[in-house]
Amino acid sequence: MSDEGEAVVAAVAAVADRIEAERSHLTDLDSAIGDADHGGNMARGWAAAAEAVEGMDDPEPTDVVKMAGKTLLSEVGGASGPLYGGSLVFASPELEGGITEETAVAFAETYLEKVQDRGDARVGDKTMVDALVPAVHTFKKSIEVDDMAPVAALSKAVAAAQRGVDFTVPIRASKGRASYLGWRSVGHQDPGATSTLYIMEELLDVATE
Ligand code: ADP
Ligand code: MG
Ligand code: MG
Repeated sequence: MSDEGEAVVAAVAAVADRIEAERSHLTDLDSAIGDADHGGNMARGWAAAAEAVEGMDDPEPTDVVKMAGKTLLSEVGGASGPLYGGSLVFASPELEGGITEETAVAFAETYLEKVQDRGDARVGDKTMVDALVPAVHTFKKSIEVDDMAPVAALSKAVAAAQRGVDFTVPIRASKGRASYLGWRSVGHQDPGATSTLYIMEELLDVATE
């Protein structure tokens, strides 16, 4: 297996472990403003994705990401399956040349573009987009403008995602199930923004190793 392909398989496994560890926390968040299935949805989907990518024969990063996305799409219903899974599949060709600063930025931007295309959410709607937009913009700027190394840029992006998650607490949901609650969604942290942060933290962890 290529070293990079192996690293991406390890990243998927790390995400699956982390999501499993956070399953009940994510479910608690979703029970406050949704239907209490985000932990289960994500844990089931990422466990299946980890199993699927483990079984691949000498894959490249693009293949691993595509397989993980396809598995999430088929295992997870609701909002998060198509948003996470579909966007990973859609962005996976950006990694066809392997993982470089350029392909990583392109991947992040295309992933975000697909999430917003599909879900039509903007910053301030109290969704995963609130974590993703600052994360992707920070990652891109850190590499292209500030000339930071990729791992340092990813670390800044994780910090930006964390601020995005915090920002979801005081605002009112305008997209997804939480929007049905109107003002009663205020004061609760968005589950999808939170799982997005956890995934990014695991990517940083694997990239740092
Ligand atoms: P469901 O809401 O169908 O039960 P999940 O509970 O798995 O699905 O996921 C809920 C999360 O999905 C929300 O916390 C939010 O972050 C995200 N989400 C919902 N709708 C949208 C949307 N239109 N755009 C972006 N993210 C969304
Ligand atoms: Mg839900
Ligand atoms: Mg649901």
